[in-house]
Amino acid sequence: MIQLIISLLLLWSPETGRTTPLRYTDPDPADSNSPSGIPVLMYHHVSDPVNGYYGVSTGRLLMDLQLLDEAGFFLITSEDIENGLMQVPPDRRPLMLTFDDGWQDNFNFILRGSAVEIDPHCAVAILEDYCDEHPEFGRGATFFISWDKVPFGQEDFVMEKFNLLLDMGYSIGNHTNVHADFMVLPWEKWENAVITPMVKFHRRLGLRTSEIFAISYPGGRFPKGVGAEEYIAGFRFMEREVVRIGFLANGSISSMKRLLDSPEGWFRIGRLDMSQYSVRQVLGWRNIMPIGPREDLHAPLRCRIP
Ligand SMILES: [Zn+2]
Repeated sequence: MIQLIISLLLLWSPETGRTTPLRYTDPDPADSNSPSGIPVLMYHHVSDPVNGYYGVSTGRLLMDLQLLDEAGFFLITSEDIENGLMQVPPDRRPLMLTFDDGWQDNFNFILRGSAVEIDPHCAVAILEDYCDEHPEFGRGATFFISWDKVPFGQEDFVMEKFNLLLDMGYSIGNHTNVHADFMVLPWEKWENAVITPMVKFHRRLGLRTSEIFAISYPGGRFPKGVGAEEYIAGFRFMEREVVRIGFLANGSISSMKRLLDSPEGWFRIGRLDMSQYSVRQVLGWRNIMPIGPREDLHAPLRCRIP
């Protein structure tokens, strides 16, 4: 009976009850009093022509980068959130880019004779070219890998791509072993869904596997109010925490100061699906961190105390 009630509550939750694409939602009124919102943008396929419902074109990605740069943003990763935004210059404000699933068009190699090159039309190349020319925008994005297919599509280059991404300052995140939806996956299967990818990452990255500690939940949802955050936080691989920060896809920009005051908040960071939202809509959000003098190096977020 309790199980049934919990299931019904989950179905009715505005965060979990959606089956249709997530649309723009205004933030909680309290968020506008807490201007510590960090937009976390989510992309999937980046290709010409556009691939599928969640895809965007290469031109669209480039245009988004230009508009976000002009709006004064600075690219960060999960490490920067834990470090209290230490790298963000005082005259810029933080923004996070994420790419889910590990599609080949995100990071593609092409062969020219015996040489291997990065495809100039893949998402990584578009980011690299833009950030080389615009150092004020910073550099960085997180690629969340699900192991239901070959990560980035080219079996022979998986190890090279993972290591090159980390060398270039990008982050790699966990998107589970088989793209598991935690809303329906039995809890006894969660550990395997989260740890098996770590074993596979470890084969390609060795010690650098410790750099993988972020998860994006496939389907964008994660059970709320039932202790799921504490449960997933307890998983270990080689004696380290496997998940320290978790990302939803809930059509929301999270006010970090408020959210990260609770242990659960670290596992419920909102993201916007950019196949559904425009940069203009992102900029209309009331709780986004403003540009302006910051009280100190870590304002408004403190370093995370483990
Ligand atoms: Zn996914």
